Amino acid sequence: MKPLTAVIGAERAAGQGVFDVLDPSTGELLAQVARCGAEEVDHAVSAARDTFESTWRHTTAEHRSKLIRRLAEIVRREREALADLESHDTGKPISQARADADVAARYLDFYASAVETFHGESLPDLADGLVASTRLEPLGVTGHILPWNYPLQMVARSIAPALAVGNCSVVKPAEEAPLSILRLAELALEAGLPPGALNVVPGYGAEAGAALAGHTGVDHISFTGSVEVGTLVAKAAADNVVPVLMELGGKSPNIVFPDADLDRVLPVITKALLQNAGQTCSAGARLLVHQDIHEAVVTQLVERLRGIRIGAGFTDPDLGPLISAAQLDRVSGMVEEAAEYTKVVHGGTRHVSPDHPGGFYFPPTVFDEVDPGSRIAQEEVFGPVVAVTPFRDVTEAVEFTNGTEYGLIAGVWTQNLDVAHHMAREIRAGQVYLNAYGAGGGVELPFGGYKKSGYGREKGVEALRSYSQTKTVVLKIGQVQG
Ligand code: NAD
Repeated sequence: MKPLTAVIGAERAAGQGVFDVLDPSTGELLAQVARCGAEEVDHAVSAARDTFESTWRHTTAEHRSKLIRRLAEIVRREREALADLESHDTGKPISQARADADVAARYLDFYASAVETFHGESLPDLADGLVASTRLEPLGVTGHILPWNYPLQMVARSIAPALAVGNCSVVKPAEEAPLSILRLAELALEAGLPPGALNVVPGYGAEAGAALAGHTGVDHISFTGSVEVGTLVAKAAADNVVPVLMELGGKSPNIVFPDADLDRVLPVITKALLQNAGQTCSAGARLLVHQDIHEAVVTQLVERLRGIRIGAGFTDPDLGPLISAAQLDRVSGMVEEAAEYTKVVHGGTRHVSPDHPGGFYFPPTVFDEVDPGSRIAQEEVFGPVVAVTPFRDVTEAVEFTNGTEYGLIAGVWTQNLDVAHHMAREIRAGQVYLNAYGAGGGVELPFGGYKKSGYGREKGVEALRSYSQTKTVVLKIGQVQG
């Protein structure tokens, strides 16, 4: 097996040895990848800086837009191959991997368009004969440290706006699933992006990740991952006064009022639990249900879960495996502990696949009548696990919703407009859905956390602001005689 290399400038670079990447559906070796460290990160940051100074920052938005759009076309052309790679690398169902490739292309298209109308303001007729304008300039070299749950979507969502406004990027994919991101860097070269505009340095977090977070040559870090690691990254960047955009975890709820249309609610909350095996920052990890309909909702949810098919990602099941043996241990451990103090109404113990006994499978698991202050209601599990808590009234629904340290997204289900608006105003989360939960790609919708779910915004036009800085240019107009 030939190891996959880093992409640094025009080079395919080896690292300090290699690391193994497994297929979570089978537990078997999928690829060996260059293990980058401080030296390779340093080369990548220099390559990005050179391209930024010599070429990219002098290009027009129209030019960058054309190249990014071409990359979107290539991603669509390579949809099947990218989806196949992603499904084997992450274990996700192949149909979802295809959808992820589509969303990645959509991010590229969206920012290719959006940047063409992204410009500063004019401030005419100020006091003392001053006129001013603002320029929205790129930051320079942007570092992107990414998780393993949606590699292709995540890389596109963060590099598309960064490149569109004129930055050059260095990406550190998660060691569990770096393959589609490495492939995207090759496709970017094929699209005609100059070597050095998009560099990818695979490796371990404590090596390549830490080297990028603390590098004096980067101008911005975008981090998507856990609170624990995000805190380390923010501290390392702070030493160089480098700004950080933090997309962290969540413990997001669906909140179901008694007048909700359950035929609409049930399929959505089931999907919010199963999608990507619950390894989604915005997974529907809590279900807050009004006490009058609590029993009906739990019964119907469990009925739906009884019928699902668990299997290898490449067989397109309803539920694929978790990403790794370590994640399987973590999820099993949290579930076992919670089962000591909470009622398990579905799932709860590890699933062994007869076809792939080496895979990392865990069944959907429902805890009922969960104390909202307990660990299983507070901590991110990052597995197909939901904690159900009944509530009495609107006041209690708000209290439970906001009663964790996270604030990423929330779904409110009611026919009552007053209740819906009240909840939307009171919920402390970056996205609130009314009679919906999540929006597929949701490329146009600004996304980010309140509280420990992070700060800064990805997605939407707001991301162009996240990856640029404002310069104010002021002109003094003299008196005109005659
Ligand atoms: P993680 O924090 O363990 O790792 C994220 C990245 O950080 C990886 O690339 C890892 O190699 C790197 N890293 C690890 N140690 C590092 C260090 N010391 N210095 C620098 N980098 C280091 O997260 P994960 O397990 O890959 O992903 C799961 C987490 O990501 C969950 O908490 C999930 O909610 C969150 N997430 C958030 C969003 C969002 O948009 N808010 C999206 C996806 C995932």
